[in-house]
Amino acid sequence: MEYRLLGGTGLRVSRLCFGALTIGPLQAGLSPEEGARVIRSALELGVNFIDTAELYGTYEHIRLALRGWPDPVVIATKSYAYTREGMRESLDRARRALGRECLELFLLHEQESAETIRGHWPALEYLLEAKAKGWVRAVGISTHWVGCVRAASRLAEVEVIHPLINRRGLGIQGGSREEMLEAIREAARAGKGIYAMKALGGGLIREEVPASFAFLLAQPEIAAVAVGMRSVEEVRLNVHYFAALGGEGGAFPPEEVAAWERKVAAAERRLVMDEGCTGCGSCVQCCPQGALTLVGGQVRVEAQRCILCGYCGAACPRFLLRIV
Ligand code: SF4
Ligand code: SF4
Repeated sequence: MEYRLLGGTGLRVSRLCFGALTIGPLQAGLSPEEGARVIRSALELGVNFIDTAELYGTYEHIRLALRGWPDPVVIATKSYAYTREGMRESLDRARRALGRECLELFLLHEQESAETIRGHWPALEYLLEAKAKGWVRAVGISTHWVGCVRAASRLAEVEVIHPLINRRGLGIQGGSREEMLEAIREAARAGKGIYAMKALGGGLIREEVPASFAFLLAQPEIAAVAVGMRSVEEVRLNVHYFAALGGEGGAFPPEEVAAWERKVAAAERRLVMDEGCTGCGSCVQCCPQGALTLVGGQVRVEAQRCILCGYCGAACPRFLLRIV
């Protein structure tokens, strides 16, 4: 496994970051014990970086995976809190649930612009105070928006940016793939640590996995790539791809890789909607991609826009939306 320094944070992270959204209740719905087994298999293969968020509901999975693990692991989490008090609660909850005195990375979740960051400033200030107390090591933002990466790169308080970027440019908001890459370069020049999200556009381009990873790993500004993994086979496959692309040779024999590829391809993800929509619109409001609309009081998904993040599932009061 190859490791990189994450900007100026001093954190050394594996280029493959375990994206913990996928194992949780918004997607595969693994139990904490099952999810811990998947995470642990990644740690055993050299992954030392886990990305989660308060929304994902995977703190317990991660806590169990780390029980007795002897080596340092970098955990990044995120919160939508925008007030000081809200962020204090989020950080307390994360530290308690993960059983850690200090969280390596705490991000403002899903920022959209300079204005959104300004609106979250009290929460950001609280994180900076928490950093001074040793409760957080570095502070940052996650975003799907090109303009937000640019805005964050000009803020000294933001040390890490987690932008949406992938080979096909799926899900990027407010600009093209090239414009997002230029914004990322600008951020890296400003000393920000960058780790990418939605490398596979939420799983839509699974058949192009090695090429998609190769595209991101070839960008020198991107220290690591968060990839959602929900099975031990998927972990091994991704470790194999990263090792091969990093010039270390494949990590596993070709026949094992071929068997895992078949298994993972057979378990493609999709968004399902159960009956019973009341047309309340909560999911429409929360979709970062504008993929949901209400038609005749019923929600409709535009599959080409959906990046399978599962956030709509958390917003639905009737639990009708799920990634399977
Ligand atoms: S429809 Fe749901 S899963 Fe798809 S992008 Fe929107 S919030 Fe994410
Ligand atoms: S949140 Fe649930 S009930 Fe409300 S519009 Fe969306 S799917 Fe329908």
